[in-house]
Amino acid sequence: MRFNSNKNLLLNAGLVFCLLGIGQISIADDYADNLAEGAKTTERNYMNDPFVRPAKVTSLVLPETWPIFYNRGPLDRSPKDKSSKLLTMGTGLPSANTYRFGPAMALIVNDYPYFIDCGEGWYRALNRSAITQKGVDLIKVFDLNNLKYLFITHLHEDHTVGIPSFILSPYKYGSTTDKVIFGPVGTEDLIDCIVNGWQVDRQTGTQGPTHATPEGSSATVGEIDPDTEFPGPFFEDDNVKVEAFRTYHAHGSLRYTYAYRFTTKPDGRVIAFGGDGHHSKGLIEAAKNADILVMEGCTWKNLKYAPWGGNTLQEKEKNIGALHMFPKDMKRVQEESGVKAIVMVHEQNYSSPENFNRLALLHEMQEAGVKNIYSAMDGDLY
Ligand SMILES: [Zn+2]
Ligand SMILES: [Zn+2]
Repeated sequence: MRFNSNKNLLLNAGLVFCLLGIGQISIADDYADNLAEGAKTTERNYMNDPFVRPAKVTSLVLPETWPIFYNRGPLDRSPKDKSSKLLTMGTGLPSANTYRFGPAMALIVNDYPYFIDCGEGWYRALNRSAITQKGVDLIKVFDLNNLKYLFITHLHEDHTVGIPSFILSPYKYGSTTDKVIFGPVGTEDLIDCIVNGWQVDRQTGTQGPTHATPEGSSATVGEIDPDTEFPGPFFEDDNVKVEAFRTYHAHGSLRYTYAYRFTTKPDGRVIAFGGDGHHSKGLIEAAKNADILVMEGCTWKNLKYAPWGGNTLQEKEKNIGALHMFPKDMKRVQEESGVKAIVMVHEQNYSSPENFNRLALLHEMQEAGVKNIYSAMDGDLY
């Protein structure tokens, strides 16, 4: 496996800023995003899955995972005059949820994908998006040899557990493209473990019918410089410029977490990926006057139903608040950054089974004063 040092991948060249186009997000009218009607009137979701109501709610069967609360498929909310597209491939949490894959985003520029975070079900999420979304030719975009660049915001398990699949699933079907993965300090160790840990499978590959060589079964890593608070531009090609900003989602041994700010070259969109975390200077810089901030969100109103963070409400407020984004925090981020729209993912939208509403957190954010915010589902385009 080849590892490049940080410095080789960090670009120091002076960069010319693109003129930023302001594309309005439009809402397609293919589906009504109105849960209030859907959940009350149907026992089945849009996929017609049967539903066995759990006698007891545990962290494995939270109301957020019940099919009766999913009443829409992917939407195309992307501006029609912009060719670059944000695809929310996986909008889920660490919780077990059939209807939301783990955190995984793709930014598509000139029909080429850049992936941000790699949660559970990453390869399946490619499939789901490709067979449900017609706003962009994802079969062409996801040509196996195009699956190359991945940017990891932080090393929590829910954002990284899909990496073995990111490296090896395309290889299995004939890709000869070695991957390039950027992330915080610790990414190199993680990728090293994965590549070595799946050695038997990789060797089987070279002996099997699809491959004669190991090309495509490995990854090069670029770790973001940990000594700089706002490392700025660290990757650039013909399609995008990417900058990194340190954010705050740290606890225990997790010290380095990043937001990535992408500027697309053909159409000048600025899309920031905040990862997890709450208000921080780095997040504000990353989202400064951006078109979109892709960000997690967490309920304040219904925090008492959170299946983690402590036994009392006070403990949950303290522990969850130290790591995640409450509505009033989101408002502050929007006001200080001037970001035009927020695409909310990784929703901690807890409540009792009797009162669960898939859009409750969206409404809570809107009531707190957050504007132009969208509750994303897997496969949406923005
Ligand atoms: Zn997470
Ligand atoms: Zn996290």
